[in-house]
Amino acid sequence: MKKHSDLKYVIIILLILALAVFGTLELVNRKQSTLQEAPQTSASSASEPSASSQAPSASVSVSDTQTTETASASEPSAPSQVISSVAAERVTNPDTGRYIVEVTDDNWQLVVVSGTREFPESYEPNLDEIFDTGKYLDARVAPHYEEMYTAAKQDGIILTPYSAYRSYERQKNNYNHLTETYMADYHLSREDAAKKAATVILPPGTSEHNLGLCMDICNVYDSFVNQKEYTWLTENAYKYGFILRYPKGKEDVTGIVFEPWHWRYVGVEWAKQIRDSGLCLEEFLDQQGIAY
Ligand SMILES: [Zn+2]
Repeated sequence: MKKHSDLKYVIIILLILALAVFGTLELVNRKQSTLQEAPQTSASSASEPSASSQAPSASVSVSDTQTTETASASEPSAPSQVISSVAAERVTNPDTGRYIVEVTDDNWQLVVVSGTREFPESYEPNLDEIFDTGKYLDARVAPHYEEMYTAAKQDGIILTPYSAYRSYERQKNNYNHLTETYMADYHLSREDAAKKAATVILPPGTSEHNLGLCMDICNVYDSFVNQKEYTWLTENAYKYGFILRYPKGKEDVTGIVFEPWHWRYVGVEWAKQIRDSGLCLEEFLDQQGIAY
């Protein structure tokens, strides 16, 4: 009789334990799906400015700006950090109609600037020089470019840094200058002239070059696609955290024509995932439910 009731207690305790474990799993599951869903909700609820207003062009021909500043390189942040740092609200710059994108320590690797999204003038990246070339990248990116450069060189490939960081100020001056030229030459309003200028020079704060997160490698000619340097990059760049930012066939999504020379740093983990997905950055973020 005693044995019987002992067994009863054991069964009851086991049942309680099983319920507790099940409950915890359920909670974890819910938490995870909330993390995945939350960004998507905020992304889809915001209204996007029409794509037709953005027509940035491939032929950005602003020369690089040199700024000397050093900072230690840091490890790429883990994916979970980025997902958890979702910006819930979007603020629009009334002067340009573009979303203001804050660049933070959490989101910098996947940050998207484009014809509809600009970062504030107050943001200034810490820069590091690429070897002694007079070209600069974000200090968190520069060592990865150098590593990639060195690896390519061992394969007989020279990934010449052609155009790297360009300052916001310089981009602004060039853009304003072209806008004023169009106003004078074509008798356009400032607004119309600015739109026309945006098809030639990206407005300040909308270029990844202003963030120091990308490099135009070797040149900016369409024929780069036929060069062995391009082939090497398509096969190897992801290993160093770089992706082809403006792929062929994704022009409607990125707002930028195919740029085989423009390689963007997103970190090694993301680069592999994005490359494997066959998606461009924006599509990948949408697919992952990561707000940007
Ligand atoms: Zn570029």
